Amino acid sequence: MRYCPRCQRIEEKEIERCPVCHKQLKRNIEENDPVFLLETSILESERVEAALDDEGIPYASRTPKKEPSATIITGNKNAGVYLYVPFQVWEKAKDIAIGIGAMQPAEEDTQQLQEKPRTIEKKGEEFEEMSRSKRLIVRIVSVILFILVIWAVVAGTDFVMNLIKGLW
Ligand SMILES: [Zn+2]
Repeated sequence: MRYCPRCQRIEEKEIERCPVCHKQLKRNIEENDPVFLLETSILESERVEAALDDEGIPYASRTPKKEPSATIITGNKNAGVYLYVPFQVWEKAKDIAIGIGAMQPAEEDTQQLQEKPRTIEKKGEEFEEMSRSKRLIVRIVSVILFILVIWAVVAGTDFVMNLIKGLW
């Protein structure tokens, strides 16, 4: 997994540059690297922080620079707080955040879980169905061939018998 120290984000794909700041991703993630966990409101962040405290997970919160003025202008109570946790507890922190409803499971993850087995299953069924009908055709053809061979033998025998009878 690649890591952008500037944005403190993980990139699971093997890409050259951070999609947020476009800086080159030079190194892989290390255990103690702070990783972006989620963005939440000031109110909600207290709940998340309490849940992380309960589990003994260290975290850092940051208010993005643009936010205070944006809050004053728009009166938006959902002003963002960014929460960061060390990479070694990132997965656990993510589970906790999802558990208390502060975070949605990544769309990619759920899609992968739901979509992939379904397509494989479908392909398997199609494949099985195809080989089943193929087997049926082979069986019908071999039955017809068998009847033809018997008919040929019977007809041939009759012909030979008639021929012999004709000689006498
Ligand atoms: Zn970046």
